[in-house]
Amino acid sequence: MTVERAAELLSTARRAVALTGAGVSAESGIPTFRGEGGLWAKYDPVKVSSIDTFLADPASYWRVSRDRGRVALAAKPNPGHLALAELEAAGRLVALITQNTDGLHQDSGSKRVIELHGSGRKVVCLDCGRVEPRSEVQERLDVEMPPRCRQCGGTRLKPTVVLFGEPMPAAAVQEAFELARNADVILVVGSSLVVYPAAEVPLVALRAGARMIVVNAEPTPFDRFAHVVIHGRSGEVLPHLAALTGG
Ligand code: NAD
Ligand code: ZN
Repeated sequence: MTVERAAELLSTARRAVALTGAGVSAESGIPTFRGEGGLWAKYDPVKVSSIDTFLADPASYWRVSRDRGRVALAAKPNPGHLALAELEAAGRLVALITQNTDGLHQDSGSKRVIELHGSGRKVVCLDCGRVEPRSEVQERLDVEMPPRCRQCGGTRLKPTVVLFGEPMPAAAVQEAFELARNADVILVVGSSLVVYPAAEVPLVALRAGARMIVVNAEPTPFDRFAHVVIHGRSGEVLPHLAALTGG
């Protein structure tokens, strides 16, 4: 059985690291970009969520972000997030690298979380630098479009996420690749593995000799490099995996 094999790898690992993508939050009701039910079917996220679109017309960005933010702020961790937190608490995972910006890993109790694409829980004013919680900006969106900065009145309030066309946070990228270079197991969950440089993380781990476990609803381009591939829902597979490792 593949889950048993994955549990065996994790049980004997000493520096196992997880990499998660949008799929791990799908069962919390947050749509993925790609895959079944993904947002790509509705619109082109590269266009809507690009820094150029944002700077040219913040309101057009916020009109889409308003609805996504409402869903993300109301979302709760699902059994997949909780199993990953349990694996860390049990010493089976040393860290979790995520492409997600929803904050659900932290909510579920994961401690060492490296956010490669920033956090959607905060908003920064590009004019004066003031940072405020996304929840406060969210409340204003129905009466103010685009939202204005409470300090300087500017209209360039941007969630602290990495938009397409923006550089990734250097410290997070460095930490992620360092973890990958030292990993003996890399557990990839809910990622289509087509967004770079995040998709480079498992490749670096593999090159350094790590074993790779992939848990994803659909096949990924890296399945052929994996030692264990489990096609299934993370909210079902991960609790089973955690239970088998004694996590
Ligand atoms: P993606 O949307 O490209 O791919 C998601 C993958 O998850 C797909 O391959 C899909 O088959 C799989 N999946 C769907 N439901 C699943 C489930 N229940 N269990 C396991 N797998 C499931 O996601 P990505 O690779 O993370 O890249 C998309 C980019 O979009 C990232 O850069 C991320 O920052 C951003 N994003 C974040 C969120 C979030 O924070 N929750 C949501 C959407 C997109
Ligand atoms: Zn300001």
